[in-house]
Amino acid sequence: MFELIRVAAHTYYIDCPVRVGLWEKDGEAILIDSGNTPETAARILERVNEAGFHIRHVLNTHCHPDHIGGNRYIAEQTGAVCWCSSKDAAFCTVSELGTAIMYGGRPPQKLMRDRFMKAEDWPAREAEEFPFPEGMELISLEGHSMFQKGVRTPDGVCFMADCVASTRVLDRFVYTYAYDIELYRNTLERLCSWDKGIYIPSHCEPTEDIASLAAENLQRLDARLLEISELLSDGMTFEELLSELFRRHKLRMTLSQRYLIGSTVSGMLSCLMDMGRVDARADAGRLIWFTAGGK
Ligand SMILES: [Zn+2]
Repeated sequence: MFELIRVAAHTYYIDCPVRVGLWEKDGEAILIDSGNTPETAARILERVNEAGFHIRHVLNTHCHPDHIGGNRYIAEQTGAVCWCSSKDAAFCTVSELGTAIMYGGRPPQKLMRDRFMKAEDWPAREAEEFPFPEGMELISLEGHSMFQKGVRTPDGVCFMADCVASTRVLDRFVYTYAYDIELYRNTLERLCSWDKGIYIPSHCEPTEDIASLAAENLQRLDARLLEISELLSDGMTFEELLSELFRRHKLRMTLSQRYLIGSTVSGMLSCLMDMGRVDARADAGRLIWFTAGGK
């Protein structure tokens, strides 16, 4: 854990709970994401210092707390500037925004103290303005967060953020987080035809074959959408639907899991509604979601 592993001439990743990338030239480094907490960031910085690199920039793939949790620490220790894709940058600067999206209003302090739900605020600039070294570019991976991006380094390594989950994670958590299901689905479909390469997803082992992993994630996503539309054949409130999903997949109900998985299920209902596969009606003061269009 926390080893600096070289994967190409100038590209490394740090093996920690949420993999962090590093690209360096002449000792100057760009860190790709910053770890899930300030404590993780401190260990990352230790390794980077030992290698003799100086971090000039932190390029965040997206705004989720486990990817930006070390921004403040790294920036304060090194003077690095933090960047994040387009509008995700606003969610780094005011991290409560992401928690509020999941909760649906101003979240209680108990949720905002949960490091999986909210990171420390630290200003991020929009990554589209980033002074990219020649050959480095962002990869479109939208959907998991509003504007998630991957990073392709000049020596051909692709940091893929949270665009795919491992089989183990899919088996265990079933409803893995995504914000915009239609965009997320489009991203997965696109990745299904990608060539072999060096791909480093944040929560999976590095792989040469991102296409197979994307295909598996796509198949699981479609199964989840089908499951919801079938469960709604007799109509259910949102809470009844969520309760049934937690029960049948043996998921553990906690305050944070309720809003993390609930947010994903809300996004799935939006996607199904936009496709004409589910609809909602008022019934005696309750909003009933039901299958529409026969599927
Ligand atoms: Zn994420």
